[in-house]
Amino acid sequence: MACICFPEDAPATRSGERYNFAAGPAMLPPAVLAQIQDELPDWRGSGQSLLELPFTGAPFKGLMHEAKQDLRDLLTIPSNYRVLFMHGGATCQFGLLPLNLLAPGQSADYLDSGYWAAKAIAEARRHAPLNIIASASEGLRAIAPPEQWRLDPQAGYCHVTSNETANGLQLQHFPELSVPLVADMSSDFLTRPLPVERFGLIYASAQKNLGIAGLCLLIVRDDLLKAPRPGLPSPFSYALQAEQQSRLCTPPTFALYVAALMLRWIGQQGGLTAMASANARKSQLLYQHIDASDLYHCRQQPADRSAINICFHLRDPRLLPDFLREAAATGLLNLQGHAAIGGIRASLYNAMPLAGVKRLVAFMHGFERQHG
Ligand code: PMP
Repeated sequence: MACICFPEDAPATRSGERYNFAAGPAMLPPAVLAQIQDELPDWRGSGQSLLELPFTGAPFKGLMHEAKQDLRDLLTIPSNYRVLFMHGGATCQFGLLPLNLLAPGQSADYLDSGYWAAKAIAEARRHAPLNIIASASEGLRAIAPPEQWRLDPQAGYCHVTSNETANGLQLQHFPELSVPLVADMSSDFLTRPLPVERFGLIYASAQKNLGIAGLCLLIVRDDLLKAPRPGLPSPFSYALQAEQQSRLCTPPTFALYVAALMLRWIGQQGGLTAMASANARKSQLLYQHIDASDLYHCRQQPADRSAINICFHLRDPRLLPDFLREAAATGLLNLQGHAAIGGIRASLYNAMPLAGVKRLVAFMHGFERQHG
């Protein structure tokens, strides 16, 4: 199993396999890493590295077109939606959403489901009045169901975080709303099929399921592309970027190339239905083991548990340093929970094979026998 890591972080194991459970930047499929390595000096026989290609030339434009088309095919994106490749991460979008989608003074609805929703709310509040439609239950155990959302019919949009990477909660259904539904899908984008037509806008940082950091992908409905507000720099305007095919300034070309490879790879694995069933299998295996154990426990209520970022704790938190150290020594890397939450987190993005989760479960079983 290939994994980019420093030797001191990744001691050799008896089997030589290492699995990277990091939340992001995260594991890439070995086949994609190998292709990058193979193609880097000479891209498709052009005699140039992909890293050297002008973004305005036909070869790079062709690559962007292929990536867009592959994404459209995977998600069955309706023709009245545009795909945008933006610079920066999802955090940039937290501020750009109100600046692009709201009229001055107009408010937006936000669902508070945990750590990343709170970040999105704090940033958007700097630019617009917000209405919090519901908050996660105490201890971040559950997401408020749509029946409890206090929606404002006048809101410019309603924002949700489809998967809470840090606290392991995931929205299982997306309601049809009268205002545009906007979703931060940074950590579960392309892990399951989606009813794209229910959304006004979807955005996702690339460094989890879609490659490497530096790129944020947006899918936005045509009618939401408005003339930019005075003062908004042009590269941050959705409308201007759509007009310029995401080439208003130099796009993050390497990140875009890796995203194109990832989209191809997902298609070759059987597309989003195959991804969803593989992710369900992996996460169920891990949750079943946690629930059956006396040493580990998961606070999230089963109906809202993330299939992607499995967050759990040791009943005796003093064992955590030993757990992480022994796991790393057997090649199970980056299992520490988010700094704000603590505990253990296993991120099971598309690139994580079932074999990695089986190895983790076997390790957890052994650790429990030793320390339980
Ligand atoms: N939203 C979610 C759900 C995330 O998981 C993250 C990153 N972990 C972000 C937003 C922020 O992304 P970035 O660091 O790319 O700005």
